[in-house]
Amino acid sequence: MADDQLHIFFFPMMAHGHIIPTLDMAKLFVSRGAKATIITTPLNLPIFTQAIEKIKHLGFEINVKAIRFPAVEAGLPEGCERMDQLTSDDLVPKFIKATTMLQEQLELLLRECHPNALVADMFFPWATESAAKFDIPRLVFHGMGFFALCASENLRHYKPQKNVSSDTEPFLVPNLPHKIKLTRMKLAPHDREETEMTKFMEQVKKSESTSFGVIVNSFYELEPDYADYYRHVLGKRAWHIGPILLCNRKNEEKLQKNEDKHACLQWLDTKRQSSVMYVSFGSMSNLTDSQIEEIALGLEASEQEFIWVVRKGKIPEGFEERTKEKGLVIRGWAPQVLILDHQAIGAFLTHCGWNSTLEGVSAGVPMATWPMFAEQFFNEQLITEVVRIGVAVGAEKWSREVENVKSEAIAKAVKRAMVGEESKEMRRRAKEVKKMANKAVEEGGSSYSDLNTLFRDLRTLNFQK
Ligand code: UDP
Repeated sequence: MADDQLHIFFFPMMAHGHIIPTLDMAKLFVSRGAKATIITTPLNLPIFTQAIEKIKHLGFEINVKAIRFPAVEAGLPEGCERMDQLTSDDLVPKFIKATTMLQEQLELLLRECHPNALVADMFFPWATESAAKFDIPRLVFHGMGFFALCASENLRHYKPQKNVSSDTEPFLVPNLPHKIKLTRMKLAPHDREETEMTKFMEQVKKSESTSFGVIVNSFYELEPDYADYYRHVLGKRAWHIGPILLCNRKNEEKLQKNEDKHACLQWLDTKRQSSVMYVSFGSMSNLTDSQIEEIALGLEASEQEFIWVVRKGKIPEGFEERTKEKGLVIRGWAPQVLILDHQAIGAFLTHCGWNSTLEGVSAGVPMATWPMFAEQFFNEQLITEVVRIGVAVGAEKWSREVENVKSEAIAKAVKRAMVGEESKEMRRRAKEVKKMANKAVEEGGSSYSDLNTLFRDLRTLNFQK
């Protein structure tokens, strides 16, 4: 081990949207010479070990350590260790409570291994203090882009949502580089009124301000005004190193075997360029059966070819038979990144989770945006109003139990994203942004260089004290 080799601990929230980019981040750090250890819980262990096994063939090694998750003590069902397993939003505070009970186990590991930095998820505000006990810098990973970070910060600071008379009256998010309008309905409950989560989010913010800084999975060219605003106006120390999913691509392509090819990719091989709409709402959303029916009707009415990922719920009878010439329904988990990158994909109907959004951006496809919860309504604004590579389906209400969008609106947005002059123009812009994304992670690119800066800053802190 070189004298100045960095050893980084990664501690992601137990949710696919946080696990996937953290795993990619660990791979990226290792490919650039650091040593990486990931901390997770037993049930989530296989997600990491399978991926880590694969990259061993490239000569990269990542360590994983499991700590016990106190589900039952926190009032959750036994075996509930990942957020997509939560059957209702009411269980989120219990899940958060269980994570706070991990502090002692994490501290034992920090004491034992004494890494040079701890990259801990925003959901673990106590991690800053834990790391400080051992004189270890803590970095925050939110799993969001700059735009959402800036918008949420200004909402919390200026509280424009308190000055409107109804949940549907639009208000401006003050002082942002663009005129961004929202309604109270589009905000998380803890931003609308005081809830259990409001206090928790204050702790998150506080721990961020005492941490070493923030790692952002984004690239400068996607949201330059907001990358600058975050650093220079809000005064945050941040390094952007994304899209992290693109960083390991060249290495991992070497591991792709043709015989592993998922059936949906073979189906896509038979389709024309940019002719298929990809429809997926991430790993956490819960759609009611009536909402699933509206989507089915909307897709049929759009007359576009499609791949639709349905995680759970009931697809209307006869739908698959009627649309078998035009569409493919995937139940469960789909190889999303590979699908989006296929030349046959023409657009992406997405819930605007940040990973999905970046995956759409990196694939260079226009998007039909249907935000549901978390910071997804902010991401929609970035894509439709700022980068202008998407059209809104018209979702109005923040909710994980989705049931409010009609088939006509879905069909209309799908058509707008897929065909016509507007779509052509968005596709042209999306391809340009894709190029910038790839450039950002290449040697000399903005994200590549910012990771160098982060490594330099950590070395200065650890080895030149
Ligand atoms: N994902 C996938 N296959 C699926 C559903 C999701 O590969 O069938 C991946 C998707 O590519 C993304 C992540 O899961 O990387 C979801 O993260 P995102 O931030 O988009 O949304 P969340 O699930 O956190 O709401």
